[in-house]
Amino acid sequence: MVFDAIIIGSGFGGAIAACRLAEAGYKVLVLERGRRWDKSNFPRKPEDPWLWNHDRPETENGWLDLRMFPGMAVAQGAAVGGGSLIYANISCEAPARVFESGWPAEVTYADLKRHYDTVARFMNVQRIPNNQWTARMQLMRDAAEKNGFGDRFRQLELAVTFDPNWTYEKDFAKGEEASTLRPNEHGAMQGSCVHLGNCDIGCEVYAKNTLDRNYLYAAENKYHAEIRPLQLVDKIEPLADGTYRVWFDSLENGQRLPRSETARIVIVAAGSLGSTELLLRGRDVFHTLPTKRQFVPRQTLERQRRLPHPGLLRPPRCASILGPDHRIRHRLPRRQSGREHLLDRRRRSPDPPRRLPPSQSR
Ligand SMILES: Cc1cc2nc3c(=O)[nH]c(=O)nc-3n(C[C@H](O)[C@H](O)[C@H](O)COP(=O)(O)OP(=O)(O)OC[C@H]3O[C@@H](n4cnc5c(N)ncnc54)[C@H](O)[C@@H]3O)c2cc1C
Ligand code: SF4
Repeated sequence: MVFDAIIIGSGFGGAIAACRLAEAGYKVLVLERGRRWDKSNFPRKPEDPWLWNHDRPETENGWLDLRMFPGMAVAQGAAVGGGSLIYANISCEAPARVFESGWPAEVTYADLKRHYDTVARFMNVQRIPNNQWTARMQLMRDAAEKNGFGDRFRQLELAVTFDPNWTYEKDFAKGEEASTLRPNEHGAMQGSCVHLGNCDIGCEVYAKNTLDRNYLYAAENKYHAEIRPLQLVDKIEPLADGTYRVWFDSLENGQRLPRSETARIVIVAAGSLGSTELLLRGRDVFHTLPTKRQFVPRQTLERQRRLPHPGLLRPPRCASILGPDHRIRHRLPRRQSGREHLLDRRRRSPDPPRRLPPSQSR
């Protein structure tokens, strides 16, 4: 069958493209290497499928693709919904000054703003209600104010569904039962956040507004896009008639079964590593993709090297491990760089110091 568009990957890039093309009447196929995840199979125990293994994806196609490079480690989701399942839900706009340099002239904040607004509406982005601030948030705000930096502190926009009536005092002890489950505006079932703090490993009550509950849900159920999980794309081959053949392995019952489909348009949305791999493999290994054009921007790699050191994200200690992962941001004053850093990261409180038995202590 010839599709109008094959989309490789179902993260933010792939999901939105799939939904909008299908809405416009295109016949869309989404090929996603990861599984569909839900409450019944979220990894929890040590023996659960936590990791995606590049050498054995047919048997080890877990939650997280964790890759180690010299001086850099990269974590990416492997799922229908891509990074939206494992991310910390922060859905804030890049500030206008980001686009002042380093971007093509066609990409401007003014142009992007209406799309930011559309995505925020579609994904039901909101801030944590004032009656649900965690102890850590209050601590951070108080510290900022006491140090004269109250104006640099602000809440983050989150793709999480909150129930304004939920409170720590009244509802926290009830756990999952206090979540209100109802269909969202796209028809997918969503619960409200009960501050369990598992946002990165799958929300038990579906309070995260993940792509499988908005863009992918609408693409599949409203606009009839086809989403195929456990399909690992390997090669993109332009054909003489102007269409493309996309080659992939179907990961079925512990086997890799070679398959292919064709389309007029191919959208490579396999994440920064996945897309780069596919394009470079096409150019340098299969020689099916252009050799003249430099389609992997050098800046992408440069930018990855300049990510802030994780040490910068370390918050002051606080016993609270509750609530969504990140909730606030703060512009650090010291560097005068205007950079904003996410604080308030959920972190387990340190174990109490262990006292050595007398024979080992000095
Ligand atoms: C722990 C964590 C927390 C994060 N928190 C935030 C946050 O709070 N806010 C924020 O804005 N960003 C956050 N991010 C970053 C965010 O998740 C990514 O920027 C975003 O997911 C990138 O979207 P994408 O569509 O480019 O790629 P992805 O979302 O990674 O989607 C790519 C998809 O392609 C699939 N794929 C890859 N290769 C192939 C192949 N060969 N064949 C078929 N499918 C393939 C992958 O399985 C994946 O589903 C976080 C990331 C991590 C790891
Ligand atoms: S804090 Fe808990 S309930 Fe809220 S989104 Fe995260 S995992 Fe879901």
